Amino acid sequence: MVQPGDGLALRSRPTVGYVALGGTIASVPSEAPGAQPGVQPTLTAADLAAGVPGLEAVAVLEAHTFRTIPSSAITLRDLIELVPVLLRVVEGGAAGVVVSQGTDTIEEVAFVLDLLWDRPEPVVVTGAMRNPSMAGPDGPANLLASVQVAAEPDARDCGVLVCLNDEIHAARFVHKSHTCSPSTFHSPGLGPLGWVAEGRPVIALRPTRRAHVQLDWSVALPRVPIVTLGLGADAVLLEALCDLECDGVVIEGMGGGHVPAGLLPAVGDLLERVPVVLTSRTGSGEVLATTYGYPGGEIDLLDRGVIRAGALDSLKARLLLVLAMASGCDRPATRDLFALVGTTTGPVAKA
Ligand code: ASP
Repeated sequence: MVQPGDGLALRSRPTVGYVALGGTIASVPSEAPGAQPGVQPTLTAADLAAGVPGLEAVAVLEAHTFRTIPSSAITLRDLIELVPVLLRVVEGGAAGVVVSQGTDTIEEVAFVLDLLWDRPEPVVVTGAMRNPSMAGPDGPANLLASVQVAAEPDARDCGVLVCLNDEIHAARFVHKSHTCSPSTFHSPGLGPLGWVAEGRPVIALRPTRRAHVQLDWSVALPRVPIVTLGLGADAVLLEALCDLECDGVVIEGMGGGHVPAGLLPAVGDLLERVPVVLTSRTGSGEVLATTYGYPGGEIDLLDRGVIRAGALDSLKARLLLVLAMASGCDRPATRDLFALVGTTTGPVAKA
Protein backbone atom coordinates (compact mmCIF):
# COMPACT_ATOMS: atom_id res chain seq x y z
CA MET A 1 0.00 0.00 0.00
CA VAL A 2 1.26 3.47 -0.86
CA GLN A 3 1.55 5.72 2.18
CA PRO A 4 1.42 9.49 1.86
CA GLY A 5 4.96 10.76 1.61
CA ASP A 6 6.55 7.52 0.46
CA GLY A 7 8.77 7.54 -2.61
CA LEU A 8 6.25 6.03 -5.06
CA ALA A 9 3.54 8.56 -4.18
CA LEU A 10 6.01 11.42 -4.58
CA ARG A 11 7.14 10.17 -8.01
CA SER A 12 3.53 10.01 -9.21
CA ARG A 13 2.70 13.63 -8.35
CA PRO A 14 1.73 15.69 -11.39
CA THR A 15 3.62 18.85 -12.25
CA VAL A 16 1.56 22.03 -12.03
CA GLY A 17 2.74 25.46 -13.11
CA TYR A 18 2.15 28.40 -10.79
CA VAL A 19 2.37 31.97 -12.05
CA ALA A 20 1.93 34.83 -9.56
CA LEU A 21 0.86 38.37 -10.51
CA GLY A 22 0.45 40.03 -7.08
CA GLY A 23 -2.91 41.05 -5.54
CA THR A 24 -4.19 40.68 -1.99
CA ILE A 25 -2.97 37.07 -1.83
CA ALA A 26 0.59 38.47 -2.12
CA SER A 27 0.07 41.66 -0.08
CA VAL A 28 1.66 42.35 3.30
CA PRO A 29 2.38 45.50 5.32
CA SER A 30 5.78 47.03 4.78
CA GLU A 31 8.13 46.92 7.77
CA ALA A 32 10.17 49.89 6.52
CA PRO A 33 10.11 52.88 8.90
CA GLY A 34 7.67 55.55 7.71
CA ALA A 35 6.14 53.23 5.10
CA GLN A 36 2.69 53.90 3.69
CA PRO A 37 0.02 52.24 5.90
CA GLY A 38 -1.86 49.31 4.41
CA VAL A 39 -0.71 46.24 2.52
CA GLN A 40 1.01 46.11 -0.86
CA PRO A 41 1.72 43.18 -3.18
CA THR A 42 5.31 42.09 -2.60
CA LEU A 43 5.30 38.30 -2.07
CA THR A 44 6.71 36.10 -4.82
CA ALA A 45 5.28 32.86 -6.18
CA ALA A 46 7.85 30.93 -4.13
CA ASP A 47 6.86 32.83 -0.94
CA LEU A 48 3.20 32.07 -1.57
CA ALA A 49 3.76 28.40 -2.34
CA ALA A 50 5.89 28.03 0.80
CA GLY A 51 2.94 29.23 2.90
CA VAL A 52 0.57 26.42 1.81
CA PRO A 53 0.57 23.38 4.07
CA GLY A 54 0.32 20.08 2.17
CA LEU A 55 0.98 21.55 -1.27
CA GLU A 56 4.04 19.41 -1.96
CA ALA A 57 1.94 16.25 -1.49
CA VAL A 58 -0.44 17.32 -4.29
CA ALA A 59 1.90 18.36 -7.09
CA VAL A 60 5.40 19.31 -8.08
CA LEU A 61 5.01 23.06 -8.40
CA GLU A 62 6.89 25.10 -11.01
CA ALA A 63 6.62 28.59 -9.54
CA HIS A 64 7.17 31.80 -11.57
CA THR A 65 6.71 35.38 -10.40
CA PHE A 66 5.35 37.22 -13.43
CA ARG A 67 4.25 40.51 -11.81
CA THR A 68 3.84 41.81 -8.24
CA ILE A 69 1.14 44.42 -8.82
CA PRO A 70 -2.43 45.20 -7.72
CA SER A 71 -4.87 43.74 -10.22
CA SER A 72 -6.17 47.20 -11.12
CA ALA A 73 -2.75 47.71 -12.74
CA ILE A 74 -2.91 44.62 -14.99
CA THR A 75 -3.23 45.50 -18.69
CA LEU A 76 -4.20 43.54 -21.77
CA ARG A 77 -0.55 43.77 -22.84
CA ASP A 78 0.40 41.94 -19.61
CA LEU A 79 -2.01 39.16 -20.57
CA ILE A 80 -0.66 38.97 -24.10
CA GLU A 81 2.79 38.43 -22.51
CA LEU A 82 1.38 35.98 -19.97
CA VAL A 83 -0.10 33.52 -22.48
CA PRO A 84 3.31 32.39 -23.88
CA VAL A 85 4.48 31.83 -20.28
CA LEU A 86 1.47 29.58 -19.62
CA LEU A 87 2.04 27.78 -22.93
CA ARG A 88 5.68 27.07 -22.11
CA VAL A 89 4.63 25.56 -18.79
CA VAL A 90 2.14 23.08 -20.30
CA GLU A 91 4.40 22.33 -23.27
CA GLY A 92 6.99 21.39 -20.66
CA GLY A 93 4.61 18.70 -19.41
CA ALA A 94 2.60 20.38 -16.63
CA ALA A 95 -0.91 19.00 -16.10
CA GLY A 96 -2.25 22.55 -15.73
CA VAL A 97 -1.37 26.02 -14.52
CA VAL A 98 -2.52 28.15 -11.60
CA VAL A 99 -2.45 31.95 -11.94
CA SER A 100 -2.79 34.03 -8.76
CA GLN A 101 -3.66 37.72 -8.87
CA GLY A 102 -5.82 40.40 -7.30
CA THR A 103 -9.49 39.60 -7.19
CA ASP A 104 -10.59 43.04 -8.43
CA THR A 105 -10.09 42.04 -12.07
CA ILE A 106 -10.10 38.24 -11.91
CA GLU A 107 -13.28 37.96 -13.94
CA GLU A 108 -11.76 40.03 -16.75
CA VAL A 109 -8.34 38.39 -16.73
CA ALA A 110 -9.85 34.90 -16.66
CA PHE A 111 -12.23 35.79 -19.52
CA VAL A 112 -9.43 37.13 -21.73
CA LEU A 113 -7.20 34.15 -20.98
CA ASP A 114 -10.11 31.84 -21.80
CA LEU A 115 -10.42 33.46 -25.25
CA LEU A 116 -6.69 33.19 -25.88
CA TRP A 117 -6.26 29.64 -24.50
CA ASP A 118 -7.11 26.77 -26.83
CA ARG A 119 -5.28 24.00 -25.00
CA PRO A 120 -6.94 21.17 -23.04
CA GLU A 121 -4.89 21.78 -19.88
CA PRO A 122 -6.76 23.78 -17.25
CA VAL A 123 -5.69 27.30 -16.36
CA VAL A 124 -7.05 28.05 -12.88
CA VAL A 125 -7.10 31.68 -11.73
CA THR A 126 -7.24 32.38 -8.01
CA GLY A 127 -6.59 35.06 -5.40
CA ALA A 128 -7.63 35.97 -1.88
CA MET A 129 -9.98 38.34 -0.12
CA ARG A 130 -8.08 38.35 3.19
CA ASN A 131 -4.42 39.24 2.99
CA PRO A 132 -1.77 37.21 4.85
CA SER A 133 -1.62 39.70 7.76
CA MET A 134 -5.32 39.20 8.62
CA ALA A 135 -6.98 36.55 10.79
CA GLY A 136 -8.05 33.64 8.58
CA PRO A 137 -6.37 34.55 5.29
CA ASP A 138 -7.99 32.58 2.45
CA GLY A 139 -5.01 32.69 0.06
CA PRO A 140 -3.33 29.42 1.13
CA ALA A 141 -6.60 27.45 0.94
CA ASN A 142 -7.45 28.98 -2.44
CA LEU A 143 -3.99 28.22 -3.80
CA LEU A 144 -4.12 24.62 -2.59
CA ALA A 145 -7.60 24.05 -4.04
CA SER A 146 -6.54 25.63 -7.34
CA VAL A 147 -3.50 23.37 -7.65
CA GLN A 148 -5.78 20.39 -6.97
CA VAL A 149 -8.11 21.59 -9.77
CA ALA A 150 -5.20 22.24 -12.17
CA ALA A 151 -3.99 18.65 -11.60
CA GLU A 152 -7.47 17.15 -12.04
CA PRO A 153 -7.98 15.25 -15.34
CA ASP A 154 -11.73 16.07 -15.27
CA ALA A 155 -10.87 19.79 -15.40
CA ARG A 156 -9.29 19.37 -18.85
CA ASP A 157 -11.10 20.93 -21.81
CA CYS A 158 -13.10 23.30 -19.58
CA GLY A 159 -11.02 26.32 -20.60
CA VAL A 160 -10.01 28.82 -17.95
CA LEU A 161 -11.50 28.37 -14.49
CA VAL A 162 -11.68 30.59 -11.41
CA CYS A 163 -11.31 28.82 -8.06
CA LEU A 164 -11.85 30.54 -4.72
CA ASN A 165 -13.75 29.60 -1.57
CA ASP A 166 -13.68 25.94 -2.74
CA GLU A 167 -15.87 26.76 -5.76
CA ILE A 168 -14.89 26.28 -9.40
CA HIS A 169 -16.37 28.83 -11.82
CA ALA A 170 -16.23 29.13 -15.61
CA ALA A 171 -14.29 32.22 -16.73
CA ARG A 172 -17.11 33.22 -19.07
CA PHE A 173 -19.67 33.62 -16.30
CA VAL A 174 -17.84 34.42 -13.06
CA HIS A 175 -18.39 37.79 -11.38
CA LYS A 176 -17.00 39.48 -8.26
CA SER A 177 -20.07 40.51 -6.29
CA HIS A 178 -18.82 41.83 -2.92
CA THR A 179 -16.02 44.19 -1.93
CA CYS A 180 -14.62 42.12 0.94
CA SER A 181 -16.47 38.83 1.52
CA PRO A 182 -14.50 35.61 0.85
CA SER A 183 -17.64 34.30 -0.89
CA THR A 184 -17.59 37.18 -3.38
CA PHE A 185 -17.42 35.08 -6.57
CA HIS A 186 -20.64 34.01 -8.24
CA SER A 187 -21.76 32.98 -11.71
CA PRO A 188 -25.12 34.77 -11.90
CA GLY A 189 -28.00 32.67 -13.17
CA LEU A 190 -25.76 29.62 -13.45
CA GLY A 191 -23.68 28.77 -10.37
CA PRO A 192 -20.26 27.17 -10.23
CA LEU A 193 -19.18 24.30 -12.50
CA GLY A 194 -18.01 22.37 -9.48
CA TRP A 195 -16.34 22.46 -6.09
CA VAL A 196 -13.46 21.14 -4.03
CA ALA A 197 -14.33 18.92 -1.05
CA GLU A 198 -11.72 17.33 1.23
CA GLY A 199 -9.10 18.03 -1.41
CA ARG A 200 -11.09 16.38 -4.23
CA PRO A 201 -12.06 18.64 -7.13
CA VAL A 202 -15.49 17.79 -8.56
CA ILE A 203 -16.41 19.05 -12.05
CA ALA A 204 -20.19 18.64 -12.01
CA LEU A 205 -20.96 20.67 -15.17
CA ARG A 206 -18.95 21.39 -18.32
CA PRO A 207 -19.12 24.42 -20.64
CA THR A 208 -20.94 23.51 -23.87
CA ARG A 209 -18.43 25.25 -26.11
CA ARG A 210 -15.20 27.17 -26.15
CA ALA A 211 -14.28 30.10 -28.37
CA HIS A 212 -10.76 31.02 -29.38
CA VAL A 213 -9.55 34.38 -30.62
CA GLN A 214 -6.37 34.46 -32.71
CA LEU A 215 -4.62 37.75 -32.03
CA ASP A 216 -2.07 39.58 -34.09
CA TRP A 217 0.17 40.43 -31.12
CA SER A 218 1.59 43.53 -32.78
CA VAL A 219 -1.62 45.53 -33.27
CA ALA A 220 -2.58 48.58 -31.23
CA LEU A 221 -5.38 47.62 -28.88
CA PRO A 222 -8.67 49.41 -29.60
CA ARG A 223 -10.17 51.89 -27.12
CA VAL A 224 -13.65 50.80 -26.00
CA PRO A 225 -15.49 52.72 -23.24
CA ILE A 226 -18.57 51.43 -21.40
CA VAL A 227 -21.53 53.79 -21.05
CA THR A 228 -24.06 52.83 -18.37
CA LEU A 229 -27.48 54.38 -18.85
CA GLY A 230 -29.33 55.65 -15.77
CA LEU A 231 -32.89 56.90 -15.46
CA GLY A 232 -33.40 59.95 -17.66
CA ALA A 233 -29.92 59.62 -19.23
CA ASP A 234 -29.36 62.28 -21.84
CA ALA A 235 -27.37 61.98 -25.03
CA VAL A 236 -24.44 64.19 -24.08
CA LEU A 237 -21.95 61.42 -23.29
CA LEU A 238 -22.76 59.37 -26.41
CA GLU A 239 -22.55 62.56 -28.51
CA ALA A 240 -19.16 63.36 -27.00
CA LEU A 241 -17.93 59.87 -27.83
CA CYS A 242 -18.66 60.52 -31.50
CA ASP A 243 -15.97 63.21 -31.40
CA LEU A 244 -13.46 61.26 -29.35
CA GLU A 245 -11.06 58.74 -30.76
CA CYS A 246 -12.76 55.63 -29.44
CA ASP A 247 -12.84 52.51 -31.60
CA GLY A 248 -16.02 50.93 -30.25
CA VAL A 249 -18.60 51.46 -27.51
CA VAL A 250 -20.46 49.21 -25.09
CA ILE A 251 -23.86 50.60 -24.10
CA GLU A 252 -25.08 49.10 -20.84
CA GLY A 253 -28.78 49.48 -21.39
CA MET A 254 -31.81 49.12 -19.16
CA GLY A 255 -33.56 45.80 -18.52
CA GLY A 256 -33.50 43.53 -21.54
CA GLY A 257 -31.30 46.03 -23.45
CA HIS A 258 -33.18 49.30 -23.86
CA VAL A 259 -32.25 52.97 -24.24
CA PRO A 260 -34.38 56.14 -23.96
CA ALA A 261 -35.64 57.07 -27.45
CA GLY A 262 -33.95 60.49 -27.17
CA LEU A 263 -30.57 58.76 -27.39
CA LEU A 264 -31.27 57.09 -30.74
CA PRO A 265 -29.77 59.86 -32.94
CA ALA A 266 -26.52 59.67 -30.93
CA VAL A 267 -26.55 55.86 -31.16
CA GLY A 268 -27.01 56.20 -34.94
CA ASP A 269 -24.10 58.64 -35.20
CA LEU A 270 -21.88 56.29 -33.22
CA LEU A 271 -22.87 53.34 -35.41
CA GLU A 272 -21.75 55.25 -38.50
CA ARG A 273 -18.26 55.39 -37.00
CA VAL A 274 -17.69 52.40 -34.72
CA PRO A 275 -19.24 49.10 -33.60
CA VAL A 276 -21.68 49.46 -30.71
CA VAL A 277 -22.41 46.51 -28.40
CA LEU A 278 -25.53 46.33 -26.24
CA THR A 279 -25.47 44.81 -22.73
CA SER A 280 -27.86 44.92 -19.80
CA ARG A 281 -27.25 46.69 -16.51
CA THR A 282 -29.34 44.08 -14.65
CA GLY A 283 -26.39 41.80 -13.91
CA SER A 284 -27.75 38.53 -15.25
CA GLY A 285 -29.74 37.09 -18.14
CA GLU A 286 -29.41 37.67 -21.88
CA VAL A 287 -29.99 40.91 -23.76
CA LEU A 288 -33.33 40.28 -25.46
CA ALA A 289 -33.74 40.09 -29.23
CA THR A 290 -37.39 39.74 -30.20
CA THR A 291 -39.69 41.06 -27.44
CA TYR A 292 -40.01 44.87 -27.23
CA GLY A 293 -41.04 46.86 -30.31
CA TYR A 294 -40.88 50.50 -29.08
CA PRO A 295 -38.23 53.00 -30.25
CA GLY A 296 -35.10 52.31 -28.20
CA GLY A 297 -36.22 48.74 -27.46
CA GLU A 298 -33.94 45.86 -28.33
CA ILE A 299 -35.62 45.05 -31.68
CA ASP A 300 -35.15 48.66 -32.82
CA LEU A 301 -31.53 48.79 -31.59
CA LEU A 302 -30.57 45.49 -33.24
CA ASP A 303 -32.25 46.63 -36.50
CA ARG A 304 -30.07 49.74 -36.43
CA GLY A 305 -26.96 47.56 -36.30
CA VAL A 306 -26.17 47.41 -32.61
CA ILE A 307 -24.44 44.13 -31.66
CA ARG A 308 -26.16 42.05 -29.01
CA ALA A 309 -23.88 40.90 -26.18
CA GLY A 310 -26.09 37.94 -25.26
CA ALA A 311 -25.40 36.94 -21.65
CA LEU A 312 -22.05 38.73 -21.39
CA ASP A 313 -21.92 41.56 -18.90
CA SER A 314 -20.45 44.91 -19.89
CA LEU A 315 -16.93 44.20 -18.60
CA LYS A 316 -16.68 41.02 -20.62
CA ALA A 317 -18.45 42.49 -23.65
CA ARG A 318 -15.91 45.31 -23.70
CA LEU A 319 -13.02 42.85 -23.67
CA LEU A 320 -14.57 40.67 -26.37
CA LEU A 321 -15.06 43.73 -28.58
CA VAL A 322 -11.44 44.80 -28.00
CA LEU A 323 -10.13 41.33 -28.88
CA ALA A 324 -12.49 40.96 -31.86
CA MET A 325 -11.28 44.25 -33.32
CA ALA A 326 -7.64 43.51 -32.50
CA SER A 327 -7.94 40.19 -34.29
CA GLY A 328 -9.27 41.89 -37.42
CA CYS A 329 -12.99 41.01 -37.20
CA ASP A 330 -15.32 43.20 -39.25
CA ARG A 331 -18.82 43.90 -37.90
CA PRO A 332 -20.49 40.70 -39.20
CA ALA A 333 -17.62 38.61 -37.82
CA THR A 334 -17.82 40.51 -34.52
CA ARG A 335 -21.57 39.83 -34.37
CA ASP A 336 -20.93 36.11 -34.97
CA LEU A 337 -18.27 36.05 -32.26
CA PHE A 338 -20.68 37.65 -29.77
CA ALA A 339 -23.33 35.08 -30.72
CA LEU A 340 -20.81 32.28 -30.10
CA VAL A 341 -19.36 33.55 -26.82
CA GLY A 342 -22.32 35.50 -25.46
CA THR A 343 -25.02 32.87 -25.63
CA THR A 344 -25.24 29.16 -25.24
CA THR A 345 -27.59 28.80 -28.19
CA GLY A 346 -25.89 30.71 -31.00
CA PRO A 347 -27.46 33.52 -33.05
CA VAL A 348 -31.09 34.42 -32.32
CA ALA A 349 -33.29 34.45 -35.44
CA LYS A 350 -35.17 37.65 -36.13
CA ALA A 351 -38.91 37.48 -35.38
N1 ASP B 1 -6.87 45.22 -4.52
C1 ASP B 1 -6.62 43.84 -4.69
C2 ASP B 1 -6.24 43.56 -6.12
O1 ASP B 1 -7.13 43.33 -6.94
C3 ASP B 1 -7.79 43.08 -4.27
C4 ASP B 1 -7.58 41.61 -4.21
O2 ASP B 1 -6.57 41.07 -4.57
O3 ASP B 1 -8.51 40.97 -3.71
O4 ASP B 1 -5.07 43.53 -6.42
